[in-house]
Amino acid sequence: MGDVMDKYSIDYYQILDSELYRLKEKDTGIYWYPLRDFFKKALFRKVNITSYRDNEFYNKYMRVISSEHPNQAVKGLQIKTWFINEEGLYLILSNLKPLNDTIRKNQIREKYEAAAKSLLGVTTLNSSTPPKFIGFQPDLSNYDVWSIICLTNDKSITQKTLWKRCEICGFYYPNTIKYFSRLSQKHLNDKCRQCFGTGFRCPNARYQYIYQRNGYDLIYKLYQNNPPEEIVEELKKWLG
Ligand SMILES: [Zn+2]
Repeated sequence: MGDVMDKYSIDYYQILDSELYRLKEKDTGIYWYPLRDFFKKALFRKVNITSYRDNEFYNKYMRVISSEHPNQAVKGLQIKTWFINEEGLYLILSNLKPLNDTIRKNQIREKYEAAAKSLLGVTTLNSSTPPKFIGFQPDLSNYDVWSIICLTNDKSITQKTLWKRCEICGFYYPNTIKYFSRLSQKHLNDKCRQCFGTGFRCPNARYQYIYQRNGYDLIYKLYQNNPPEEIVEELKKWLG
C-alpha cells in the first residue's frame, strides 16, 4: 500500500513560526500535506485520521505516501504517512469547528488557523461567532473613510497579513502596532487605535497632514474622486 516518494519533491514552508513540510507531486504540481503533522504544527490540534479516511467526502483527496522520515535524527527510516492534497485540506479548513479549550489556547489556535487558511486561500467565515484573527483582507466597504484611506495606502499589507478583530468596533485591522497600540513587549491591545483613542496614522503624508488639521471633509472629497481642480483648490487653501 502507498505511493512512492520518487514521484514527489519535498517542500519546506512556514506558518507563522511553525516549520512544516509538504510534498509536491512532480507530474501535476499538486501539494500534498501530511495530515497529522499539519494538524499538530499548524493548528495545534490532534487529528483522528480515520475520521477523514473513512469519510467519503474527504477520502478521495487522501493517499498514503511512503517516504523517508523528515527528521534528520532518524534518517533512512521509511514511514507510511497519510497525506491530503490542497483541495482536501481547503475543505477541512473551511469546516473546522472551534475546540472547547481555554480562551488563551484558543486564541493562539485562531491565529495559526487564520495563517493556515490564508496559505490555502480559505476566505470564508462559516462560524456564527466571528474569529479573532483572519488571514485575508476583509471587505472594506463598511469601514469608515479614514480606515479605508489608511488601509489602502498601507504598502506593508500583503497576502500574509494577519488581521485581528477589534473587541470594541468589531472591524478587522492588521495585527500590527500601526493599528493596535502596544500593551507590553509581546502583546498588542485588543482594542484598535481608533477605539482606544490614539487613531491611525496614514502612511500617505499628505492625507495625514490634512487629517491632523481637521480636514476630514476634504479627505472625504479626495477619496470620493471629486473633480481634480476642485480638490487642488481646496488643497491650496489647506496647505496655505
Ligand atoms: Zn475598534
